[in-house]
Amino acid sequence: MAIPYARRINGVRPSAIRELLRLGDDPELISFGGGYPDPALFPMNELSEIFHELLTTATAGTLQYTESRGLPELRKLIAERLTRGGTVCGADDVLIVQGGQQGLDLTAKLLLDAGDVVITENPTFLGALIAFAPYEPRYAPVRIDDDGMDVDHLEEILARNPGAKLLYTVPDFQNPTGVTLSLQRRRRLIELANRHQLVILEDTPYRDLRYEGSHLPTLKSLDTEGRVVHVGSFSKILAPGVRLGWAVAAPEVLEKLGLLKLAADTQSSTLNMSAAAAYLGRYDIDRHIADGNVVYRHKRDLALATLDDVLPPSVRFTRPNGGLFTWLSFPEGFDAAKFMQETLLPAKIAYVPGATFFPVHQEPNHARLSYSGIPDDRLLHGLRQLGELVRRQLES
Ligand code: PMP
Repeated sequence: MAIPYARRINGVRPSAIRELLRLGDDPELISFGGGYPDPALFPMNELSEIFHELLTTATAGTLQYTESRGLPELRKLIAERLTRGGTVCGADDVLIVQGGQQGLDLTAKLLLDAGDVVITENPTFLGALIAFAPYEPRYAPVRIDDDGMDVDHLEEILARNPGAKLLYTVPDFQNPTGVTLSLQRRRRLIELANRHQLVILEDTPYRDLRYEGSHLPTLKSLDTEGRVVHVGSFSKILAPGVRLGWAVAAPEVLEKLGLLKLAADTQSSTLNMSAAAAYLGRYDIDRHIADGNVVYRHKRDLALATLDDVLPPSVRFTRPNGGLFTWLSFPEGFDAAKFMQETLLPAKIAYVPGATFFPVHQEPNHARLSYSGIPDDRLLHGLRQLGELVRRQLES
């Protein structure tokens, strides 16, 4: 069978994480892979009451088409919440998307021609690489450390890539490393974007999952020239299955993103948008997030303390102030994918080998480890075993 595929599909590969999620069906497997939010935190009762009401007493409007930009009431509530958090905007500055992932896709579709340069953190979110792949970009990855993207290195990269159009960043509790961009670097990033006429795609699904310290301003709130497309999501703060997120951008950019949204899927689900609006109107989502953060903070503390105990000092890992991940760095020469295949999986343990998060040069000696959504006893047991197996491997 010779199917005449488009060239753009060449760069699209199966995701290592999807493969891993398939492994997740094995009940004995302790998976530090997925990075799913803890399902025990989903507001089941509240959402079930709301959906029931929407389908029984509410008007047929909740099952009708609505504006492609998204339900006005939901856009207003999101804008109010963002404004309270320092990212000042109005309902008309918000486009509702089908999860943050669609925000990444539409932004790439808006800006990228084949061969255009995208600047990313190194490593970066795999789902972004997957979203960008059909637009056939080239990548210019920038080093990161505990304060996020290294802006001095960024300056060098910009000097070498004068035509770069788009910079993609996860400034808060980055996926996969968990690190957060410092305030000073946020300011420098905006200055550099202005100087080099870059669009910044700011992806913030973990922003509200902060377990200590205070929130840093979003890049959007520091944006002086309308260069930031800010993307957020309900996935980690409400439930990923509702598939709702938002994009906030300058009017001209948002208008075009709205046209692409219309072309892609007409609009997000009216029913789900109505439910999210009812939830935000009726309940205190910030209270809900704070309750969840108590659980996640505990998991993070348990995971980091256990890793401190069980890993040899030659294995380093990040100490995130929030989010769902820590990033393990094994000594040079260690192959984290091979180790998982040959040693961890037979012991019923999984993480995500790190190579897949690097856009260009895939470093083999890292792994992403998620501590969310695993009961404490399994978390402890799994990490102890992981530590033991790593020690044995490094000593052999
Ligand atoms: N960006 C990052 C950094 C993510 O980790 C994720 C999901 N894990 C997304 C975007 C997309 O999430 P969603 O589409 O569920 O909002």
